[in-house]
Amino acid sequence: MRLVLLGPPGSGKGTQAVRLAQAFGLQHVATGDILRDEVARQTDLGIKAKAFMDAGQLVPDQLVSDMIAGRLQADFILDGYPRSLPQAESLTHLLKQKGWTLDAALNLQVPEDEIVARLSGRLVCLQCKTVFPAGTESPCQKCGGKLGKRADDNANVIRERLNVYHNTTKPLENYYQKLGLLREVPAVGSPDEIFKRLCATLKRA
Ligand SMILES: [Zn+2]
Repeated sequence: MRLVLLGPPGSGKGTQAVRLAQAFGLQHVATGDILRDEVARQTDLGIKAKAFMDAGQLVPDQLVSDMIAGRLQADFILDGYPRSLPQAESLTHLLKQKGWTLDAALNLQVPEDEIVARLSGRLVCLQCKTVFPAGTESPCQKCGGKLGKRADDNANVIRERLNVYHNTTKPLENYYQKLGLLREVPAVGSPDEIFKRLCATLKRA
């Protein structure tokens, strides 16, 4: 099975991607991790990407697509990619070359106010940088560090991030809609409820 998982920041996308990967035996491809790994290992692509990151710029679509292309196994769930229409087109092209097709583009839907509420209360470990939901008590369960608020988690910054997200992903949703692959999944409720909904959607896909 080959899946794309779409969803705004704060939609629980990473958590659900991990669960789907385990349940269906899929390779979990998290773009953020790959990017960090390429940079850390100082691969050709990593060195190029780092130059953009150091300059405060987005890593170009083509560079990200090249990183993904080198790693994709036959069954996967993509988390954090594609993030723009050019990336989606380049993914379609890549799959075509391999003779593969996508089974579904799952789109997690969360009302904006709910996202702002989730993200603005979020806490981060000041030591190991692990992120915890609102209401988690110090110290960090992983390293014993102190938990604090993230500087960029205030309501205005979050709404701005959501605007950017929607502007770049709307064309993406339309693209997968036209291909008949888009599956809208309400991402409210507990992680268990959302996971059940995703599984039910996949059975119908
Ligand atoms: Zn920690």
